[in-house]
Amino acid sequence: MTATRVLVLNSGSSSVKYQLLDMADGTRLAAGLVERIGEETSRLRHEPLAAGGDSRERTGRIADHEAALRAVSDELSADGLGLDSPELAAIGHRVVHGGLKFTEPTVIDDAVLAEIERLVPVAPLHNPANITGIRTARALRPDLPQVAVFDTAFHTTMPESAARYAIDVETADRHRVRRYGFHGTSHAYVSRATAKLLGKAPEDVNVIVLHLGNGASASAVRGGRCVDTSMGLTPLEGLVMGTRSGDADPAVIFHLTRVGGMSIDEIDVLLNKKSGLVGLCGDNDMREIRRRIDAGDEQAALAFDIYIHRLKKYIGAYYAVLGRVDAVVFTAGVGENAAPVREAAVAGLEELGLAVDGELNSVRSDEARLISPEYARVAVAVVPTDEELEIADQTYALVGKENS
Ligand code: ADP
Repeated sequence: MTATRVLVLNSGSSSVKYQLLDMADGTRLAAGLVERIGEETSRLRHEPLAAGGDSRERTGRIADHEAALRAVSDELSADGLGLDSPELAAIGHRVVHGGLKFTEPTVIDDAVLAEIERLVPVAPLHNPANITGIRTARALRPDLPQVAVFDTAFHTTMPESAARYAIDVETADRHRVRRYGFHGTSHAYVSRATAKLLGKAPEDVNVIVLHLGNGASASAVRGGRCVDTSMGLTPLEGLVMGTRSGDADPAVIFHLTRVGGMSIDEIDVLLNKKSGLVGLCGDNDMREIRRRIDAGDEQAALAFDIYIHRLKKYIGAYYAVLGRVDAVVFTAGVGENAAPVREAAVAGLEELGLAVDGELNSVRSDEARLISPEYARVAVAVVPTDEELEIADQTYALVGKENS
């Protein structure tokens, strides 16, 4: 029997998201989420996709990541899909920061794990949780290949002109300060899927990808390779996001320290957790913001305008970076669902060959689709992202290669 299943794990500081896929045909066998690990109110929600039936929920304290993964394993076992199954080929881990070293998915051994740990100072919020997830999974199935798929990998093709900040080179290099970019798995998947939608090879198309979820980033992809992206040293740079400010003059930090009397940690929380849409209007859910705008709420309308203004600036910037653009593509929670965002972001860009067809834009669908009118020079598309499938694909391909 060939092992064809891949378990994808996305470990956060207090959560674990998982999906089990069968790579023989790409079907999803199970999915779920453990939240609030370490608290009294931990919750596991399991969707038995292949086994059928309603989703199952467990509440009550799940002490740590190991307990969480054991609970996930129990749920999978109840569906006959346990972690001990010989049909499991590998576990694929989402790892946020791979620095410059990891340009490809990588089979995890002790040296790789040590290198991911070495990157903790540049990803203090994310890599420790990813490391815990990897350690736990390795302890549960030491015999099984475990693969790290890095959020930064797709962006390692950026030229130095896009990746470097214009600050003292020696200081930057000493502290590994440069633009790494994130959401790479999504940008890779969506740019490839867009080429497919256009009926072309990835090498032949230039695409601007707008990944608009709660976190949001844009990327310029030339012939399948990333040449610029909006997130930087951390996911804080770039677009206006749900709770992150995106671009802001770094002197805002000096000002808030010197004049506002705030500590660095307070400003960190301010810019990452209390800014963006939530800072501007109190809501970070685009559905709620649209409801408020429809009810005449000016604060919500201004938040929306600031969000769109920044988005439009990035479309223009990446148009200039690429020179020729074949498609602008929207993805993730907001990009896939919020027609008004897509319409507003492209409005007024007809001179650049960009337009949205109102009717096509209002169609709700889970499929990749074009929303530009036939006459438009540049395609505008909606392509649902699938980071789990991409991680599973990359994991399975690598394990297959190692075994052959
Ligand atoms: P992340 O993975 O970054 O947490 P998602 O890609 O799941 O985020 O996007 C979540 C966001 O998508 C929500 O905060 C909400 O603003 C937006 N969203 C989801 N569904 C809709 C919808 N039907 N209409 C508008 N916005 C939506």
